[in-house]
Amino acid sequence: MVMKTEKNRQTANLELVKQSNLTLVFNFINAHQPVSRASIARATGLSPTTVSSLADELISENMIEETGMGTLHGSGRKPIMLAVKTDGGCVVAVEVRKGTLEFEVFDLKGNSVVYQKCGISDYEKLGDIIADEVEKIYKGHGRLLGICVGVPGIVDKRTKRVLSKLIPVNRDNNFFDVLRMRFPDVKIKLGNESSFCAYIEKVEAKKDIHSLVYIDINVGIGSGIILDDRIYTGAFGNAGEFGHMSVDADGRVCKCGNRGCIEEMAGPPAICKALGVSSISEIDTNDKSVYEKLDDICKYFACGINNIMNMINPEAVVLGGEVTYLGQPFLDRIKKKLDEIMFSADPEVFSLRFSSVSGNAVTKGGGKYLLDRIFEDGDFIIE
Ligand SMILES: [Zn+2]
Repeated sequence: MVMKTEKNRQTANLELVKQSNLTLVFNFINAHQPVSRASIARATGLSPTTVSSLADELISENMIEETGMGTLHGSGRKPIMLAVKTDGGCVVAVEVRKGTLEFEVFDLKGNSVVYQKCGISDYEKLGDIIADEVEKIYKGHGRLLGICVGVPGIVDKRTKRVLSKLIPVNRDNNFFDVLRMRFPDVKIKLGNESSFCAYIEKVEAKKDIHSLVYIDINVGIGSGIILDDRIYTGAFGNAGEFGHMSVDADGRVCKCGNRGCIEEMAGPPAICKALGVSSISEIDTNDKSVYEKLDDICKYFACGINNIMNMINPEAVVLGGEVTYLGQPFLDRIKKKLDEIMFSADPEVFSLRFSSVSGNAVTKGGGKYLLDRIFEDGDFIIE
């Protein structure tokens, strides 16, 4: 019995190694194509035999192709070059919003090939509505390899259910199970939208970075965490509740029951209240006195960001959402406060900035995350 378990474990380990090597080779080809088998072996440290066998598998899966002879460096035969087969497959990323669903199809090179919106009113049928649209939208772009769904809510990792106040989806809604039934052979990822925003911010960052926190500042404040290039959501899926981090133990009572939460003390409603306006877009950003009135708000944000720095020490913190309307002077004021209190980051590396991603960051980030891990196994595979 023990022998059998050990053997199963070894088989599982071998399978994991293979998946990780396939990911390594496929992603290397995608980043450096056209490229020879010998170059892949040199760059990845895998043996030439392993690279050849993995390349054969990717060719038989129709995911890469031989594109002809490359140039010869030194003596011997000219190498045969490999490139990703653009139409060899695709992934579909979906953003579930209030009243609409947004879909984006990506080819194997990560190019966006279709972007489409549709209205939704009956969230009880969310699983079937997503599945019907996905079936229509990916046609003509090769085999469907994966679906990634981003939602504005907490995803329970254990039950694969979502709890959201922004869309009418609660723990009874089994849309993930419906998708799993409708697409039994397809990789499906489900995650909080801020996680996918965080991932695309990391991918599109000017520097090569591996850790980042994205804070989405709207009426609700959420965040997405990237650690070692992966989305981190914690043991239960609730990590990243930046909005409910307290910055004043004696502050105002928040709807969560705690006191002094950032969402309560510094979110858009608090900003509007401090300035006597009803929405952020009414604020005159040319009026310098505006920023002086937001001094406490900036202090609260700096305090919260400093807590993030002390806890997980990311290379970048990116702010997005409606608060970006307040522009650079707002960010500069937070930075100044942060500089006064932060001691745990290298100023040469660390950056605090506004989001710079164009297009739909949720679908872009979800699609990229899925493509970067397309060989990873498992049903519900968000970390
Ligand atoms: Zn709270």
